[in-house]
Amino acid sequence: MSQLTDDTGVLVTDVLIIGAGPAGLYGAYYAGFRGLTVTVMDILPQPGGQISAMYPEKPIFDIAGFLSVRGRDLVDGLVAQADPYSPRYLLGHRAAELTHDTDGLPVVRTDQGATVHAKAVVITGGVGTFTPRPLPAGQEYLGRGLEHFVPDPSAHADRDVVVVGGGDSAFDWAALLAPAARSVTLVHRTTRFRAHTASVEKVLALGVEIVTDSEVSRLTGTTRVEQAEIRHRTTKATRLLPAQTVIAALGFLADLGPLRHWGLALHDRKITVDTRMATNLPRVFAAGDITHYPGKVRLISVGFGEAATAVNNAATVIDPDAALFPGHSTDKEH
Ligand SMILES: Cc1cc2nc3c(=O)[nH]c(=O)nc-3n(C[C@H](O)[C@H](O)[C@H](O)COP(=O)(O)OP(=O)(O)OC[C@H]3O[C@@H](n4cnc5c(N)ncnc54)[C@H](O)[C@@H]3O)c2cc1C
Repeated sequence: MSQLTDDTGVLVTDVLIIGAGPAGLYGAYYAGFRGLTVTVMDILPQPGGQISAMYPEKPIFDIAGFLSVRGRDLVDGLVAQADPYSPRYLLGHRAAELTHDTDGLPVVRTDQGATVHAKAVVITGGVGTFTPRPLPAGQEYLGRGLEHFVPDPSAHADRDVVVVGGGDSAFDWAALLAPAARSVTLVHRTTRFRAHTASVEKVLALGVEIVTDSEVSRLTGTTRVEQAEIRHRTTKATRLLPAQTVIAALGFLADLGPLRHWGLALHDRKITVDTRMATNLPRVFAAGDITHYPGKVRLISVGFGEAATAVNNAATVIDPDAALFPGHSTDKEH
């Protein structure tokens, strides 16, 4: 069954999945497996949610069936698994408004002006939209050498890199880039790191210079960043570092955003669901990190199970004659 767009350019789909993290991508597979058309929306420009944004190169050790799988490879696998069912991706779209039409079917409007009419919605919005904390100095170089993520480490080969931050992400990016970059310097405001000791030791062993009690006070360059000025917080002494890449790894501000105003029953910024993963709103389900129920554990593996439960229950709401159990995948033609 192919996706339909009506005469007014409005998108019509059986299932709309809001959030292209691991739970949403697995939900897309399950919707396709159930013979439903599926649209996956995410505000980020790439699928993969927290994995793609924060730890694409990290090995993950607790995905069933894999001794270890690199974040990026897990996301590629999830996208490939859903691909045969031709999901439509609306990337770069924030779900801004959820209403129900006169037939009681959900309608979602995005901040980019798209309108999606769905027979069921599955919200897999994780921690909501996560915005990187800005670097106080030099934010005007964002996208011109100043980055918050490292989707492609090879883009920084042979560059002088300054990483700002003292948490796991800062040390991970430093370790990832050190082998190929010309130089890597890590700048942190204090002498205490939130990163694991093993990560700190690894980065030191790779020859990364760690500058503590200092912050980036200025970025300079003509069209792109060329230098980072760092200033000692006590002595105020400054030092200029060559820097064609500056990575601000200062953490994220998570915000449920528009979802807060949709009338969903919430508990501590999470969506309350029942055992079917149904929310309090008709035809609206949720799965993954964004859900709340007693005993909830926020892990990728749990999100996978919840996505399967949400989509299969949504299938019975879309077609009351449909069975809840989808059948075994081993029994299907592929
Ligand atoms: C550094 C780090 C390491 C981790 N390691 C592990 C591990 O080893 N094992 C493990 O199981 N888990 C790990 N986790 C946790 C794991 O990443 C999360 O449990 C998982 O990503 C949750 O998946 P999700 O699909 O529910 O949500 P997310 O991955 O958070 O994806 C949600 C998506 O929804 C989008 N979104 C939100 N609101 C909207 C909106 N209104 N409109 C459009 N899009 C929206 C977001 O942009 C995001 O892409 C780790 C997390 C971090 C940060």
